[in-house]
Amino acid sequence: MQQLEALTDAARRDAQAGSASVAPGGARIIPILPVKAAPAMNADEAEVARQMQICNACRYCEGFCAVFPAMTRRLEFAKADVHYLANLCHNCGACYHACQYAPPHEFAVNVPKAMARVRLDTYSSYAWPAAAGALYRRNGLTLALALAGSLALFLLLALAVNGTLASSPAGGNFYAVFPHGQLARMFGVVFALAVLALGMGVRRFWRDITDGTAGAPGSAAAAEATRDVLALRYLDGGHGEGCNESDDGYTLMRRRFHHFTFYGFMLCLAATSVATLYHYLLGLEAPYPVLSLPVLLGTAGGIGLLVGPAGLLWLNLRRHPEQGDRRQRPMDRGFIVLLLLVSATGLALLAWRDSAAMAALLALHLGCVMALFLTLPYGKFAHGIYRSAALLKSAIEKRQPLRHDPGSA
Ligand code: SF4
Ligand code: SF4
Repeated sequence: MQQLEALTDAARRDAQAGSASVAPGGARIIPILPVKAAPAMNADEAEVARQMQICNACRYCEGFCAVFPAMTRRLEFAKADVHYLANLCHNCGACYHACQYAPPHEFAVNVPKAMARVRLDTYSSYAWPAAAGALYRRNGLTLALALAGSLALFLLLALAVNGTLASSPAGGNFYAVFPHGQLARMFGVVFALAVLALGMGVRRFWRDITDGTAGAPGSAAAAEATRDVLALRYLDGGHGEGCNESDDGYTLMRRRFHHFTFYGFMLCLAATSVATLYHYLLGLEAPYPVLSLPVLLGTAGGIGLLVGPAGLLWLNLRRHPEQGDRRQRPMDRGFIVLLLLVSATGLALLAWRDSAAMAALLALHLGCVMALFLTLPYGKFAHGIYRSAALLKSAIEKRQPLRHDPGSA
């Protein structure tokens, strides 16, 4: 008994010191190291892990998207695996419509819905600062308050500076309504904070899903992930015919409307960047002629941001009710409507910038843009950032050797 106590004490000491030693009598003591407990899963995460175990035995959907090849590289699904797979899923619905184990089967497999629920967990649990994670769960309200506050702010500012909203400064000069420096400071600070919040959140997500296993992305993996993001590769359904929306039929509509939205957004950013260069480098101040580069880019971007979100809203309203997470409808639809408001007010401002409605239209447009920037890190936009990180991990992972025989699941 005394010998056992001596061994235990020695083992404890060595564990604290992080070394092995030899006990009295020559026995080698193996240190008792504290075991790092696996993070506990919540009900949504456990449900994805359960369904992935079933899918891993079935594998009928292997060719649909990046989720299933990533799944077959695993025998078990820990919390970080579940978050990684959930963000690889883009909710196309193909595996739900194809599944022989979907409800009413007792296995109750509905991968798109289970993945969508976990994605909401991803956004909220990796949010930066952590307290802001709650904004995803009440995103409809968050968005409405941000929009109402931003609109009120710019309408009141326009009134305070000009004394009226019915004014048309000479030549449609926006900076006669809001000084350029004031706008640059307001939007610059909010946009920088949005980028910081998204960057910090995705950095924490990346650390968890790679946990030191991904290594630095090689150029081939980075190039593949970039191509997949820019071409929205997996929105072709893996067979080129597209996603399921309301029924078993495939359609490429979602891919096309996503492209309009994504490239519309990028063109609008390009227009703003070019206008900034014109202002600071060339000393050319807005308003710019209709055929100038900033206006052409902005007009093309505005049209893309009108067509894309309108189509996505139409698809969202028709989507099969079992294909997603009902709780996220306010977030999905709110973001789409906000994009529509940004583009509609921007195009209206361009059309009527020489009229008496200019000051009011400018205030409305800036209010919508400010609401978009304020909610960028805490709404549907996060989906694009986390999904891009998951696609990069997928591109890296597929170049690494398998850690088990893929046929042994
Ligand atoms: S979703 Fe259904 S059909 Fe597809 S792999 Fe999973 S269990 Fe099989
Ligand atoms: S819903 Fe689409 S993207 Fe998601 S796992 Fe199923 S097939 Fe893949």
